[in-house]
This record gives sequence, structure tokens and C-alpha cells, in this order.
Amino acid sequence: MKFLEEEIALLKAENRFIQPNVLQSAQGPISLIDGKEVINLTSNNYLCLTTHPKVIAAAVSATEKYGIGTAAVRTIIGTTSLHEELEKRLAEFKGTEDSIVIQSGFTSNTATCQSLMTSPDDVLISDELNHASIIDGGRLAKAKKKIYRHNDMAHLKEILETPEVRSARRKLLVTDGVFSMDGDIANLPEIVELCNKHDVITMVDDAHASGVIGPQGRGTVAHYGLKGKVDIQIGTLSKAFATIGGYVAGSHNLKQYMQSVARPFLFSSSHPPAVVATCLAGLDVIYNEPERLQKLWDNTKFFKEELKKAGFDTGASQTPITPVMVGDTQKAHALSKMLFDEGVFALAIGFPTVAKGKERLRTIVTAGHEFDQLEKAAAAFKKCGKALGII
Ligand code: PMP
Repeated sequence: MKFLEEEIALLKAENRFIQPNVLQSAQGPISLIDGKEVINLTSNNYLCLTTHPKVIAAAVSATEKYGIGTAAVRTIIGTTSLHEELEKRLAEFKGTEDSIVIQSGFTSNTATCQSLMTSPDDVLISDELNHASIIDGGRLAKAKKKIYRHNDMAHLKEILETPEVRSARRKLLVTDGVFSMDGDIANLPEIVELCNKHDVITMVDDAHASGVIGPQGRGTVAHYGLKGKVDIQIGTLSKAFATIGGYVAGSHNLKQYMQSVARPFLFSSSHPPAVVATCLAGLDVIYNEPERLQKLWDNTKFFKEELKKAGFDTGASQTPITPVMVGDTQKAHALSKMLFDEGVFALAIGFPTVAKGKERLRTIVTAGHEFDQLEKAAAAFKKCGKALGII
């Protein structure tokens, strides 16, 4: 295993070595990270559900009733009545016939691509900035892969019109709903129109959109008024829902098929009842406390404006994910470190997670932040950005 030393040295030389920061409190707008209390601009806790009393109470009560775990995969005896209820309610949330809950958003994507794309005569069409789990889904699928330039509808059309795609057995287009590094939204109306014309199945990964955009946070399909027009919606329960898990929402047949063939569903154990109960309680909070979604968007608008006023380039973001463009890996890391010293936690994202020249800090505000915290964070960004010559 000596080669690992060389590999680690290479990762360090290429600024790709990762040593996770350690959270020593609950995930919140202010968090204790590596021994320091900081304004946390890094978590996907969009609606601040991590510490919601009703969600915590649901976890406790489910644990008392069902115990701490299922000790089985879903198809053996790992499906509780809570799992079934969650699938029904997520389908209602997404406006689909049915849904299937899988271990994570990551495995929901890999499982769907792998389960549907089973022949070299199939084609999987993917946006170049799609999440790693879609890329890995493509690797597990037997289909040919076609990648179109980010949100570039002319390029997508060109690909759809090639003889190879036209003559494919099955065609599946996959796009992130909200792109996780840039915070922009997929052009779903045009994607749907093009895909309808070319008989292509549509799949949108709404990991960063569910609970965040559209009426009641129902996601990008609802945001564009496309109910019933997108075949498959993927969601995660680890971001706005603040716990863990993923789901595939679509037709009843899709659920029935996937529960017989989707490998993570078949071969990896199911969620503990407490996790499922927190998702159900989270859905209640989403419906009953719309002020959280409103606050999330008020904070988003406020923080973006503060950063823009300070002179930062915040890219093409339309959502609570706001990149602060730096354009150099070392500078991005230096900015993140200086901000931490100033009491602000915002992680640097370098190559290869983003392209060379697109290195950035990625910030995410939540419904839990207050304007004065965001004002303070923006002031720290301004001070450090100036010191590093970024603005
Ligand atoms: N899709 C996207 C767009 C994501 O950003 C993420 C989370 N990084 C995932 C899928 C995976 O979700 P999970 O963390 O639930 O596995």
C-alpha cells in the first residue's frame, strides 16, 4: 500500500487533498466548526429543519414505536408502514402517481440510470454540469452517453437529431433541476418540448430544488408549471429535508419496476424509522410553515445583493446557492481561510469539482439566517476579497 503515499502527495500537489472540517454542534445558521463559532454559509439545510422541534419529536416517537432500525433491505422486511406512507406523500408533493424511496439522492440517480438504460442500443443524454451521481449512473448504465453543453438547447437539439440518437431503442435525458455548483436552473420548458418531439424520456434531479423552489417548494417541475410533463423527478431528503435519503417520483409502473430491479433498493438496507418519520414531519412543516420558504428567498435576495454591491462576481445563480467567483484554486482556499478567521464559513471549490478558471467559494443561505448575520458575512467577504485582490 506504499503507493498511497505517492497518491496523497499528488493530491496535495494538485490542491485536491481534502481534510473535512468538523461540525461540533447542530447544523445551523451559526455553527461550531473546528472549535470556532462561525456564520455557516455551507450547508444545504435550506429550511433549517435540522433542529425543528416537531421534526425532532417525530424522530423520537418513531424510534420508540419501531425501534432504531429495520435491520433489513426494503424487499426483505425493511419496509415499514412509515416507508409506504412517505412514498405516497412524496408522490403527492411532486405531483406524480407514485414514488420509491432509496438510500440517498446519489443512489437514486445511479439506480434510475442503471435500471432504465440496459442496452448499448439505449442513449443517455446528460448536461455537462450534471451531478457526479448522474455521471456514475451513466457509467453503470449500458447505454451510450451523449453530453450536451451546459443548458445549451441548440447543442441538445443537434444531439437529438443525430441518426445515432434517432435510431436508439430507449432515450433518457437527465438534467439537474438546480445546478449544484452554480445555482442556475435547467431550461426545463425547452428540454421538455425537445424531448417530446424526439420521444425522449425526461428525468430531472431536483436535489437542490425540492423544498426550495416552486410553489410550496415542490421543485423545478412545479416552478415551470410542467406537472405531468416530466417523466421522472429525483429528490434528496438530505438537503431541505435535512436528514438522509433520496426518492424517484414518477409513474406507478416505474416504482413497481424499480422495486424489483434497482440494485441499491434490493441490496442495501432501508432507512431507520426515525429518518422516515423526520421526512414525514418535514413535509408537514413545509406545508404548514410557508414563512420558512419566504425567509429563504428573502435571505437569498439580500445576500446576493450584498455580495454584488461589494463587487463580487456571483455567476449565473438564480437560487440560494450563490457562487463567489475567484478563478484560482489557491486564492479560493486563501479566501476561505481568511473568512474563517473572520468568523464566516464558506468552502472553496476547486478543480476538478469545477473547471479550471472557475474556482470559487460556494455559499448557501438558509431560512435560519438573519439579515444582520448575512450583512456581517458580506462585510467579511468584502474585507478579505479586497485584501486578496479579488475585488
Ligand atoms: N444530486 C445533486 C444535484 C446533488 O447536489 C447531490 C448532493 N451532493 C446529490 C444528487 C446526492 O444527494 P445525497 O446527498 O442525498 O446522496
